[in-house]
Amino acid sequence: MADKKSKGQKMAEELLSNPKSIGSKDPKYLEEASKFCEGYKAFLANKTEREAVAYAIPILKKHKYTEYVPGKKYKAGEKFYMCNRGKDLIMCTKGKRPVSEGIRVSVAHVDSPRLDFKPHPLFEDGEMVYFKTHYYGGIKKYQWTTVPLSIRGVVMLKDGKKVTINIGEDDSDPAFIITDLLVHLARDQMQKTASKVVEGEQLNLLIGSWPFDDEKVSQKCKLAIMQILNEKYGFTEDDLESAELCAVPAFKARDLGFDRSLIAGYGQDDSSCAYAEFMAEIDTKNPEYTTMTIFADKEETGSDGVTGMASYFFRDFVEDLAQTEGCEVRHVMRRSICLSADVGAGYDPAWPEVFERNNCAFMNYGPILSKYDGAGGKYSTNDASAEMVNYVQRIFRENDISWQMGELGKIDVGGGGTIASYISLNNIDTIDIGVPVLSMHAPVEVVAKADEYMLYKAIHAVYNSKLPKEF
Ligand code: MN
Ligand code: MN
Repeated sequence: MADKKSKGQKMAEELLSNPKSIGSKDPKYLEEASKFCEGYKAFLANKTEREAVAYAIPILKKHKYTEYVPGKKYKAGEKFYMCNRGKDLIMCTKGKRPVSEGIRVSVAHVDSPRLDFKPHPLFEDGEMVYFKTHYYGGIKKYQWTTVPLSIRGVVMLKDGKKVTINIGEDDSDPAFIITDLLVHLARDQMQKTASKVVEGEQLNLLIGSWPFDDEKVSQKCKLAIMQILNEKYGFTEDDLESAELCAVPAFKARDLGFDRSLIAGYGQDDSSCAYAEFMAEIDTKNPEYTTMTIFADKEETGSDGVTGMASYFFRDFVEDLAQTEGCEVRHVMRRSICLSADVGAGYDPAWPEVFERNNCAFMNYGPILSKYDGAGGKYSTNDASAEMVNYVQRIFRENDISWQMGELGKIDVGGGGTIASYISLNNIDTIDIGVPVLSMHAPVEVVAKADEYMLYKAIHAVYNSKLPKEF
């Protein structure tokens, strides 16, 4: 008799929402998720958009993807990719249906907040040598001092040759660091607001201190470093003007916690979503609708430029597919859907005051579906329709996907945008989805393995669903 449910209990089960973490629904899930996340941790070694794209292409080739040929008619199940300037990647699996019936798009960004170098970065002061940086994306500047950083990017030489640089990550490599003021002399600094504690012009990367042995030259330390750089990479100070170099945290992605349920690592905004959609794309074999998986650049600075999602490269590509099949790009767009895959904020007990408990996201509760983001009175956001939210949720229910609906935080405490607005500009129904993250945009961010694996399954379910879009 003891376990007989009362009328109220039964009714509550039937009528009320009862959110549960993935772990309480399926205690064994972490094991499977951990296996998946070994590949994810390896992917996190790519710390710039160029590195993510260069890492992905050989894997695509191994899985029978070929480079897209404009005008070529692809058969159902065929796989192809298009790389835009080494910084964006579009990956497709041709569906059984013509593209005129719509495509299934997922887009995540592969750029992360970091410290780009200025065009004239090299200077000597106090007989120490530095690279001057210009931060890229939204950062708390003070977080980037006194942590080991590595240098990544490309330098173009005068003859047009490109030199790729990746130093500071290997145990045998030197590290680079931005210093902070000693606490003993920081009485004034400690009174400043957090945005002023360390300012942009103080984010100078320490790269050397030993003088060149020649009494006749000034700036001996700078010359000595330039000599090393020239011997190692073949460039001169002038070549730095066109270079794209940046400093990123030198930490490797690691398991976090005694239970190893979490991952700590740099760039999980948005490599967590990029990896999940990448694997979902590769594992989709014969979809009903053509899939289109995109690694995008420049999200963190507003999606501008030829490699940002505000560029026409995406629309032009869809137009090429449409024309080859004898239809108009606008008709493809209208019948398509897009998952704008980007991370959200996970509830952090250290700052409960910024979260609204009924509408925030919790770690291990699955990917967050966000109807909208933006700021204030829903400014600057795609706001997915009831029909679109319902469509995606129906696919999730059919496929046993755990998800949570979430807003970033309390309405009036802040906000943020995603690529969703730029996709919906093309008349594609779009919704945001992504894993909850702790310490977003910090040198080390935290993601739960179960959420990461569930996001992969969620995107895979959408790619493989036969459910027609009827709205
Ligand atoms: Mn993001
Ligand atoms: Mn971000």
